[in-house]
Amino acid sequence: MKIGVLTSGGDAPGMNAAIRAAVRQADSLGHEAWGIYRGYQGLLDGDMEPLPSRACANILQRGGTMLRTARCKAFHDPDVRAKAAEKLKAAGIEALVVIGGDGSFRAAETLLREHGVACAGIPGTIDNDLPGTDRTLGFDTALNTAVEAIDRIRDTASSHGRLFLVEVMGRASGMLAVHTAIACGAEAVLYPESPDDSYEALVTQLEENWKRGKRSSIVVVAEGDAVGGRAMAVGERLKRDHELDLRVVVLGHVQRGGSPSALDRIWGSRWGSEAVRRLDRGERGFYLGEVAGALVAQPLSRILEPQPVPPGDLGRLVAVLAR
Ligand code: ADP
Repeated sequence: MKIGVLTSGGDAPGMNAAIRAAVRQADSLGHEAWGIYRGYQGLLDGDMEPLPSRACANILQRGGTMLRTARCKAFHDPDVRAKAAEKLKAAGIEALVVIGGDGSFRAAETLLREHGVACAGIPGTIDNDLPGTDRTLGFDTALNTAVEAIDRIRDTASSHGRLFLVEVMGRASGMLAVHTAIACGAEAVLYPESPDDSYEALVTQLEENWKRGKRSSIVVVAEGDAVGGRAMAVGERLKRDHELDLRVVVLGHVQRGGSPSALDRIWGSRWGSEAVRRLDRGERGFYLGEVAGALVAQPLSRILEPQPVPPGDLGRLVAVLAR
């Protein structure tokens, strides 16, 4: 069987580990892996070629994705998807391993439902916002990158007695923000799913910290949808209302890059291999995950269910630990 491998949506450290494992597992089972470049856009353009095991040498430790990635708006159009299915058929590719996030899985689900293309999903997004898995590739690496950066900011924040607002990625999900906040001992965190996600609640908390004698604070802010970034908007408002000596740092794409952590390499490798083994057994529509340490699979259709993945109680813990 020819098995296509593609990465789609935002890149995430660990994607290369998953590609390498899928390719080498395919090889070991007598299948032929094909690399499809630039996600669904590359599929439409026919940008694909056989990917032998040797082509995956020395990628395990690299961030990004050797297959490159893209966003492809046209894929929302059923006629365009039909063309993509024809490209696969013409190349003799019967199954796909799709490494990406929620949107990439939705696209895979349509290819399976409308055109019978067997699809295996591997969660790859630094946001860790997919239902049915405790982990997604890239989250662990991005978290460690953010924590390392904020540790540095902490040194200068406490030396100057300053407030820093540090924006981390996560437009609709506070997962990265909350975990970062706990790991770097932030005084407060703003994130979309929080019951206290308001300017007023933040001001109250900063005032309480000041009364307790804290002269410097770090507030982690999930980027949100604000034009120009949420941390910037909150910072401007705080400066205006309270004349605070504050600084805003936007970590931005620094969080996406870099060598994947050991855990992202290990899960990328396990998922890449498992995806191909299940396709080999004839499974046709699933995505992989990790729940309580165990490798699990969900039906691909689960991605269509309403799916808030809130970071639980961790936001509250940030406030307790900041006392
Ligand atoms: P991610 O996979 O990281 O969530 P996106 O949401 O940008 O990233 O999705 C990646 C790509 O998947 C999109 O550019 C588009 O080509 C395709 N896609 C996303 N959502 C759908 C959908 N509902 N139907 C068909 N294709 C989709």
